[in-house]
Amino acid sequence: MFVPQRILFEKETLKYDVGKNIYNKFKDNENVEIINLTSNRVKQHIPGEEIYEYYREGKNTLVVGIKKGFKFQSCKPSAHYQLPLISGCVGNCQYCYLNTNLGDKPYIKVNANVEDILSQAQKYINERIPKITIFEGAATSDPVPVEPYTELLKKTIEFFANSEYGKFRFVTKYNDIDGLLNIKHNGKTEIRFTLNTDKVISDCEKRTASINNRIDASVKVAEAGYPLGYIIAPIFIYDGWKQDYMKLLIDLNKRLPKNLAYPITFEVISHRYTTRAKNVITQVFPNNTLPMNDSERTYKYGQFGYGKFVYTKENILEIKEFFEHSIKEVFPDSEIKYII
Ligand code: SF4
Repeated sequence: MFVPQRILFEKETLKYDVGKNIYNKFKDNENVEIINLTSNRVKQHIPGEEIYEYYREGKNTLVVGIKKGFKFQSCKPSAHYQLPLISGCVGNCQYCYLNTNLGDKPYIKVNANVEDILSQAQKYINERIPKITIFEGAATSDPVPVEPYTELLKKTIEFFANSEYGKFRFVTKYNDIDGLLNIKHNGKTEIRFTLNTDKVISDCEKRTASINNRIDASVKVAEAGYPLGYIIAPIFIYDGWKQDYMKLLIDLNKRLPKNLAYPITFEVISHRYTTRAKNVITQVFPNNTLPMNDSERTYKYGQFGYGKFVYTKENILEIKEFFEHSIKEVFPDSEIKYII
């Protein structure tokens, strides 16, 4: 569970249960500074002149806000819409896309008016009936480390449990999921865990749960009957990568219960970066060890008008062949959604 150093409450947020719960949880904790904002200017309350320090202070800051404006962003290809419950993440993953996308907002912001957000989701669902509408809860965040006191996922899962035409999914690198195990979900929420090798986690994913804790949490989720998936990402090619990723699959298989309610899904994503991301990462993590030598990569133009440095064609082919073969061998009943 994430314990922030400071919590900023935007105006009116203490009227909502989510705001009250967070306030009551931390009000007597002398290590947590509580700030009630009179204007909704957040930045000036987070120390740090330089991006390096501001990023670190931001990652220790929780902002409780209210989602205004109810146009949901699309979320292709993983879902139809982003569900805007939370933005930002407490993790310090060096390669994280949020470093670029939320660079000036590294703090975690939770939206207290979850009922409004869910009723807007219902409107989007109604527009598409009889088609199913899928919402992604982790498009701009990892919502799990704050779940023990926000209960946003719990409320959302219970909402979708009763939804005929709506589904929910989210992905995490954390294990604070115990509050989700004994609630009604009706199989309408898919929980995915992002996994990687010990080396990648210890080199590049500071302040995330260990691989053991992620796998333990995923076992609990499986036993609770949720649809379960794994994202193995980002794949890095390094000395011994195949052995390490194979070990990961075998360890996972040993610990997962058999006879699952739904087939497990796998998504596999190789490491890639943009020039903009590289510039931000170099400032925020000057000692990072990410392989970002442009000359060793292929430049690929993307659908959003900017290009990315991906592994070479030969490397991607090797990654595809390796994971297709290994996943089928270790998890013959699983579904591989894509390997990119
Ligand atoms: S856990 Fe996910 S969202 Fe959080 S910093 Fe790491 S990659 Fe980013």
